[in-house]
Amino acid sequence: MDSLNFSAGPGALPADVLTQVQAAIGQVPEVGLSLLGISHRSDWFTAVVHEAEQNIRSLLRLPDSHAVLFLQGGASLQFATIPMLLLRGRNKTAEYLRTGYWSAKAEAEARIEGSIRILWDGKTHDYCRLPSAEELSCSPEAAYFHYASNETVEGTQFHYVPGRNDVLRVCDMSSDFLSRPIDADQYDLIYAHAQKNLGPAGVTVVILRRELLDDVPAGIPAILDYRSHLKAESIYNTPPVFAIYVALLVTRWLQDDIGGLTAMASVNEAKARALYGVIDQFPEFYQGRALARDRSCMNVVFSLPSKDLEIEFLRRATGEGFAGLEGHRSIGGLRASIYNAVTLEAAETLAQFMTEFQRRA
Ligand code: PMP
Repeated sequence: MDSLNFSAGPGALPADVLTQVQAAIGQVPEVGLSLLGISHRSDWFTAVVHEAEQNIRSLLRLPDSHAVLFLQGGASLQFATIPMLLLRGRNKTAEYLRTGYWSAKAEAEARIEGSIRILWDGKTHDYCRLPSAEELSCSPEAAYFHYASNETVEGTQFHYVPGRNDVLRVCDMSSDFLSRPIDADQYDLIYAHAQKNLGPAGVTVVILRRELLDDVPAGIPAILDYRSHLKAESIYNTPPVFAIYVALLVTRWLQDDIGGLTAMASVNEAKARALYGVIDQFPEFYQGRALARDRSCMNVVFSLPSKDLEIEFLRRATGEGFAGLEGHRSIGGLRASIYNAVTLEAAETLAQFMTEFQRRA
């Protein structure tokens, strides 16, 4: 029996994409070689990178002012690189929203580089909610403003764009990238690793306003300097050929099979409604973690009245073919991740299982 994959990441990939990847591992017909053994200097791979970039541009409606890079090192490397590039030597303070596990990690890395101000700290609310726009007083003097659009561990998601338009806006979009349309012009730098909505682990997309590169401080190692990657069109050193190729297939799937990000967002909302619907129907039994207003359409985080019930839930869920429902190791509980490739049918099947489990408990 095939399991339904609710893993928080690396997450589910579309079935059609997996079929194409299997074939390409055998042989990419245009090249006559296995996907795993094709040079990154080949014309074929140059075209792969080019098409993947064009697809991301068109899905997000990116203006020409923004460049797209395919990098390595995961989102965690961006936690460190961004303050090196945008804070070092500036004599300014960067403002961070501490809304959960991952944005706190980003902020800790930035502290190594320079002065940081926490604009809002969700720790006092146990990271169950996000700030409203009125709660934020962002400074016009900040070096930049950083936030995570979706907190993967706690299951919160911004449903508006925080920050101010006259300060560089930097966003960790790792766990909701390409899950809904955005107004790209509002962002100066977006980073997102692939392993939620875009592909396997190994590649991280950085989208940045080209102007940012005008005053990169001296002494940044070339491998961390976005200018090296921009100049080399993301083939500065050996890139993760496999991961970028899979990402290309996922972008084609988003365009051709799903019909773009507006269509993707409505499927994602329907999946979230199915699961939160059960949580809201049985609030004594399923305790949703996030405040309803700030709930994530990607990670549905909840707990049960006792640890024993959670163990039993996971045991039965696994037996019925649901995978990846354990909560993050830092907070426990349960988490259903419903990234782009998880079908509405899979979410509805899980919702049904939850309803029945509650009835029988
Ligand atoms: N940011 C977010 C929102 C994440 O969910 C994660 C990992 N799940 C990271 C950053 C860290 O990513 P990586 O493992 O690619 O460094």
